Amino acid sequence: MKKSHYGIYGGQYIAESLMMPILELEEAYDKYKNDKNFLEELDYYMKNYVGRETPLTFAKRLTDFLSGAKIYLKREDLNHTGAHKINNVLGQVLLAKRMNKKKLIAETGAGMHGVAVATAAALFNIECEIFMGEIDVKRQKANVDRMKILGAKIHSVSEGTKTLKDAMNEAMRFWTNDPKNIFYVIGTAAGPYPYPMMVQDFQSIIGKEAKKQILSIEKKLPNLCVACVGGGSNAIGLFDAFLGDMDVKLIGVEAGGKGIKTGEHAASINGGRLGVLHGAKTMLLETFDGQILDTYSISAGLDYPGVGPVHCYLNDTKRVKYEICDDAGAIMAFDILSKLEGIIPALESSHAVFVAMEKAKSMKKDEIIIVNLSGRGDKDLETILKYKSEHNE
Ligand SMILES: *Cc1c(COP(=O)(O)O)cnc(C)c1O
Repeated sequence: MKKSHYGIYGGQYIAESLMMPILELEEAYDKYKNDKNFLEELDYYMKNYVGRETPLTFAKRLTDFLSGAKIYLKREDLNHTGAHKINNVLGQVLLAKRMNKKKLIAETGAGMHGVAVATAAALFNIECEIFMGEIDVKRQKANVDRMKILGAKIHSVSEGTKTLKDAMNEAMRFWTNDPKNIFYVIGTAAGPYPYPMMVQDFQSIIGKEAKKQILSIEKKLPNLCVACVGGGSNAIGLFDAFLGDMDVKLIGVEAGGKGIKTGEHAASINGGRLGVLHGAKTMLLETFDGQILDTYSISAGLDYPGVGPVHCYLNDTKRVKYEICDDAGAIMAFDILSKLEGIIPALESSHAVFVAMEKAKSMKKDEIIIVNLSGRGDKDLETILKYKSEHNE
């Protein structure tokens, strides 16, 4: 039996018309994932194009301010295109090239994944079409402009709630039109197998580097690693290297939006139920009858009603704890990190920073926390200003 499941989660719950391209992808990834030439090419672009390895920065002023555990930031914000997304995109696009695919398609919410895919499409001279909900097209105009400048075609999706999940539905439908020539680049550790595994593999470089870096700086492992969870790719990317180190606590942070009780959130593990979404069995936000609910978070990148199957499994086995940070907490962490460290974090990453700050306070001074700074906050300035004017800050 192939290992397409994580406990009861994952699998390939897809239309028959997608089985052919999914099996083709599975075969290709199996063939190349340990191929020397493939890994060398990926490594070359990671180093010379993305700018890896990214630093592990000691946040001295933040640490002093909290007077608890030492906080280190894994600087995925310094990657080309401004977030961790490019790690996964380059892996998938190099695979697409080897599979002789003629066109890349991708879904995007906040636009960071779309920009990364459009970037790789330009670099490797492949046609590129991006699916984005109509609402996101409006609220993420800067990223839409970036994708257009890079040469991508944008499909504004007006079905359903006109956001990320609808964009992903539409991309999967579009894929069935021409599976021979199209490669679908999924942006997070979700979707049908082998995507969750593939995305985890490509993002695992984050934790691999962080582990090596902390061992060289501190001569010991961290006590705690923290990352935000949308679909879960940056989180599993950091956690992967530490899963076997049982003394290292791992915390994933879901978007609490306006609070779990209000129903306006995006916390699929803490506030969801078991279902099937985008080809995988997973925890998700849906009604009792199985209709997908509207999600809400101040950070568009965490605003996804499902979550990668591996996280549901790690939650069940209690290897990773999943906590919540609401909008207000994220904004507070965003401000504090900007003022104390001169680093403007993405609103998504701010959720992880908030929980790390809370934990640090009650930890000893010789203990260590690593926070994944999944992206930079340039894209969020307008959102922040609007939030502050509405809350009289
Ligand atoms: C897309 C995005 C996320 C959420 O996606 P994951 O797959 O959960 O990592 C988090 N942070 C940033 C900066 C993003 O762009």
